[in-house]
Amino acid sequence: MHCQGNLLKMKTRLEHVTAYTLLLGAVDVALNPLVGREISLTYLNQINCIHCGRVTRNSFGQGYCYPCFISVPQTEECVLHPEKCRAHEGIARDMDYAREHCLKDHFVYLAVTSDLKVGVTRESQIPTRWLDQGASRAVVLARTPNRYLAGCVEVALKAHLADKTNWRRMLTREPAPEINLAAEKGRAAELLPAELQAYVTPDDGVLEIRYPVLDYPAKLKSVNFDRAGSLAGRLAGVKGQYLLFDDGQVFNIRRHNGYLVALDT
Ligand SMILES: [Zn+2]
Repeated sequence: MHCQGNLLKMKTRLEHVTAYTLLLGAVDVALNPLVGREISLTYLNQINCIHCGRVTRNSFGQGYCYPCFISVPQTEECVLHPEKCRAHEGIARDMDYAREHCLKDHFVYLAVTSDLKVGVTRESQIPTRWLDQGASRAVVLARTPNRYLAGCVEVALKAHLADKTNWRRMLTREPAPEINLAAEKGRAAELLPAELQAYVTPDDGVLEIRYPVLDYPAKLKSVNFDRAGSLAGRLAGVKGQYLLFDDGQVFNIRRHNGYLVALDT
C-alpha cells in the first residue's frame, strides 16, 4: 500500500487492546494490523498548518503556522496551564470556543504513564487523553464545573506529583507496577485544601489500558523529520502517540502534526 497526506494525531479507540488509526490527510490507515510488519514513512518536505492549511516553514505548538499559533483558541495559554484559564471571568481568545472547551465539566485524574502523574482534561476527552498519553492505568480524582478549578486542583498536587511523562520510561513494558492508584487517590485527596476536596469523586474505579506492542526495544532513538527524511523498519508497536520500531526507533506522531508524509507498507 502507498498513500500520502498530512499527519494528524492518531485516532484511538478503547478496546481490549487499544485500536489505532493513522490519519494521513483524507486517508485513514488501521495501524494494529501493521504491527509486526515492515513499514516506511517518508517526509515530503512540506508542513501545512493544521488550522488554516497554509504552508509553513516551521511548526508551532504541534502543527500550527505562526499567525494561527498566536491567535487560535486551541493554543491559548490555558491549554497547557488550566489554572491560568480566565473563561469563567468572561476572558478568552474566543468565548464561543471557551464555552465548549473551558466552561464544561473537567476531570482531574491520576495516571501511570511513566510514573504516577496528575493531569486535567475535559469530560468528553476521557479516555482519549489517557490513551494519547500512553497511560497503562488511570483513575478519576475530581470533577469540577470548569477548566480553571480543575487547574487549581492540579496545582495543589504538583508539589507532590509529576505532571509530565518521561517518554522513554513510558515506552517500556509496564512502568511502575507497584503503584496502587486507588490508594494514591486517597492520599492525593487528603493533600487538597478543604474547598477543593469538595470536588473529589467517590468512584475509585481504575481503568487498565493495553496497547498493541509486540516487544519493547531496550534502547530507544527518537526520529525527528526536521533532521531525518525517512523512517523504515518493522513496526514493533504503538503506544500513546508513538510508533515504536523493533530496532528502537521511536516516532512521535503528535510532534509531526501537519507534516506531509508518504506511508508505504
Ligand atoms: Zn494557520
